[in-house]
Amino acid sequence: MTSLSNAAVRDIETVIHPYTNLDAFRGTGPMIIERGEGIHVWDADGRKYIEGLAGLWCTSLGYNEPELIEAATEQLRQLPFTHVFGGKSHERAAELAEKLKAIVPHKASKILFCGSGSEANDQQVKLVWYYNNARGQTKRKKIISRQRAYHGVTVASASLTGLLPNHRDFDLPLSFARHTDCPHYYRYAEPGETEDEFTTRLAQNLEKMIIEEDPETVAAFIAEPIMGAGGVIIPPEGYFQKIQAVLDKYGIYFIADEVICGFARTGNMFGSQTFGIKPDSISVAKALSSAYVPIAAVTIGEDMYQAMLDESKKIGTFGHGFTYTAHPVAAAVAAKTLEIYDKRNIVGHVRSVAPKFEARVARLAEHPLVGHARAKGLIGAIELVAEKTSKRSFDPAAGIGAAVVKAAEKHGLIVRALGGDIVAFCPPLIVKDADIDDIFDRAEHALDDVEATVT
Ligand code: PLP
Repeated sequence: MTSLSNAAVRDIETVIHPYTNLDAFRGTGPMIIERGEGIHVWDADGRKYIEGLAGLWCTSLGYNEPELIEAATEQLRQLPFTHVFGGKSHERAAELAEKLKAIVPHKASKILFCGSGSEANDQQVKLVWYYNNARGQTKRKKIISRQRAYHGVTVASASLTGLLPNHRDFDLPLSFARHTDCPHYYRYAEPGETEDEFTTRLAQNLEKMIIEEDPETVAAFIAEPIMGAGGVIIPPEGYFQKIQAVLDKYGIYFIADEVICGFARTGNMFGSQTFGIKPDSISVAKALSSAYVPIAAVTIGEDMYQAMLDESKKIGTFGHGFTYTAHPVAAAVAAKTLEIYDKRNIVGHVRSVAPKFEARVARLAEHPLVGHARAKGLIGAIELVAEKTSKRSFDPAAGIGAAVVKAAEKHGLIVRALGGDIVAFCPPLIVKDADIDDIFDRAEHALDDVEATVT
């Protein structure tokens, strides 16, 4: 550990790092990021990187947007905190709720704010149960998610997440959660199966699951339009239409987890629009505030709201809320973020640069290490394989995905490795054509470096 800086040693001795091998970390120490500007960040040694994953799929407006900094500063000066419990409020809460209601991909009646994507999905679970109890459907408790989904890490949202490390030895998932198939055609199609046959099979499997569980006990289905942390899995054409038809048949509530896809990432304001999903509610977080401050939200339809009114009358209160629900500084920054998306036409910008992004991701498929490359809008990924024709994966112990990430860092690009040796790209939405070339030139160099080490 003698080569580690003092800052690194202090970090090792004091901080727990999520999604990190805590044991290996004691030897490597952290990469300390010190400042940011535009799409770039600098580490503590002064090295400059392109943030190719926008932090954690979230810093949509880059790292020094003056209008957001000003919105936060102004709100901090005027009123750094007040709460919204017991009928108290502040003007930023309604301002943000109005802006959000105006753009979400379904008819929302009200907005329930919270602090993170996990909390948003946790709230979804509680609200669906509350709603069903209010309307006398007291058996409807189960929520169907999908294998490889990522919905967060609180006890309920981690139960909906369909990834082993989020369950193993945490005694999860809880029994309300079910996981149906992941729509990853490249990995899970049967030999000779067309995309259409694949999506039909998945919809049939979902219906089978609902019938086996008893439709009267199924409350909701939750899905990311594009699965993010599970591998940037873009569903085949028609998938959501077939899934939605099954859900509609059994009166099952559809929650779209827009935590990554929301706010222009896929070339429409919401991923639901890109994939033709008609949700009953959505969860948003991350780019809601360009990640400058923590804030998230759940949309509530009129039916749900009426049920909440009934419960409130019966019980005497709506017994839920966080200290930081609709935090005024977060709400001010988020309202400004939505204003910027509108006035700078962020959807139009993403559509103008997406063809270059999608083409450069597609080009990576030619690399000997890449089995599959996929992108939509400004989110994409490559899947690294030991052999292209058989799609044989590398031995996970070889850490090929992690090696590509390390090599990319040497070339001044931060990207992220996901399970299954998948490397994800999700830059700030403000990237220009030249930035995109810069990102993928660096990624190609990184792949070449790693290829040279693979026998
Ligand atoms: N839902 C999705 C689709 C996400 O990608 C994430 C985080 O990456 C979450 C929920 C959880 O959000 P948070 O990390 O803010 O709790």
